[in-house]
Amino acid sequence: MVRQHLVSSKEGIGGIRSPNILTRGDEVMFRTARRQIGACRGKARGQNGALMKNKPAFKQSQRKQGPQTTAIHGGEPLRHGVGAPVGTPICRTSTFTFSSTAEMKLWAEGKSKAYIYTRYGNPTLSVAEGKIAALEGGEAAVVTASGMAAISSALLGVLKCGDELISTAQVYGGSYRLMRDVFPDMGIKVHQVGTDLAGLEGLASSRTRCLYVETPTNPTLRLVDLHKAITFAKKHKLISIIDNTFATPVLQNPLAMGFDIVVHSATKALAGHSDVIAGVAVGSKHWMERIRHMVIYLGGSMDPEAAYLLIRGMKTLGVRIERQCENAMTVAKLLEKHPKVARVHYPGLASHPDHRLAKKQMRGFGTMMAFDLKGGLAAARRFCDRVRLFLLAASLGGVESLVILPIYSSHYNMSSEELRRADVSPGTVRVSVGLEEADDLIEDLKQALA
Ligand code: PLP
Repeated sequence: MVRQHLVSSKEGIGGIRSPNILTRGDEVMFRTARRQIGACRGKARGQNGALMKNKPAFKQSQRKQGPQTTAIHGGEPLRHGVGAPVGTPICRTSTFTFSSTAEMKLWAEGKSKAYIYTRYGNPTLSVAEGKIAALEGGEAAVVTASGMAAISSALLGVLKCGDELISTAQVYGGSYRLMRDVFPDMGIKVHQVGTDLAGLEGLASSRTRCLYVETPTNPTLRLVDLHKAITFAKKHKLISIIDNTFATPVLQNPLAMGFDIVVHSATKALAGHSDVIAGVAVGSKHWMERIRHMVIYLGGSMDPEAAYLLIRGMKTLGVRIERQCENAMTVAKLLEKHPKVARVHYPGLASHPDHRLAKKQMRGFGTMMAFDLKGGLAAARRFCDRVRLFLLAASLGGVESLVILPIYSSHYNMSSEELRRADVSPGTVRVSVGLEEADDLIEDLKQALA
């Protein structure tokens, strides 16, 4: 009987249906689907709990799982027994039913956590949130329509008019422009500090509320010393936010070091296939509740289809990053030796100013790099116009290798002084190294530079 319900397309999608048409078994399934984050943290029973009654109790191992195992199984309901979907059902609905006005009243009074409307939450989004929370080692997560939605909702969840923010000057261009062009009009003052954090103490005042850093930085891969940053934030009781997009949770886990909130452009390596725009924020339940409210009010919620793509992408995050890091090192070494290249920005090279710091605080050197051509902008444009296997495109972190000129993409609309501070020259080329064979990438780079 239960199995028929699971496969019945008339009554719902993928076994997640409204409570008023549920069998007793399905009701367990629906209720536990709401608690996906709890499930990923081992607190709730399986989504298909009713189907598991003839199976011996599943014993969770006490040993900490490896990150690739977490990427595959984190956030997912326990899928054992008969008929449970292994893939994540896409709960393609904008709204959810209530069994009675009494249930609705409970929701309105904050006494029920039922799904009501997808902008507020959705079972597929909950799986994505559970998975990234597990990967980053956070209590909870909020998924958003883009990385910028996660960044703006996190910052606005923390800051109010009259507050001051300290941010590293080298951050993704969109985050930089948000702080430069929007925050001052909202009465939020932004102070900038270099990635070396020199002069940080002098920037703190009684109004300072938040420290925001990005490391490694986009596009020139400078690193911020995480230990120094968090020590400063704790001393001044600041809320610390870090954009962990370039490192990914595979290479560094800032929450474990004491950061309050991690944000990502999940468009990039987390989803990993250049087919979705997405963002995430991860941290304590307290901060995630604040950020979720901002997402609900400002409207930057994720679509369930996007959540599915993010979930699928995250399952292979570990192996992709491992292989892409290897490819990146091969590419960086080739570029460093090339006579037309003036400088390579890759933290894995001993010549990089933050190489030692990268060895100390990251588990790998990453999949991103930039390089400056001796011939400046003309040479950089020539190179980008000649690549065949590498694609000339914005974004990063996908399986395809990409090249881009920051001055025509992330760093458009910036003065020469701002570009100098961001260490971006007109001849800087940013490279996102993908999953292709390293030999094929090398051949393409050689012919494009020839
Ligand atoms: N953070 C970093 C480091 C980025 O590179 C980007 C985009 O390139 C963003 C945030 C913004 O993400 P999204 O484009 O998903 O809004």
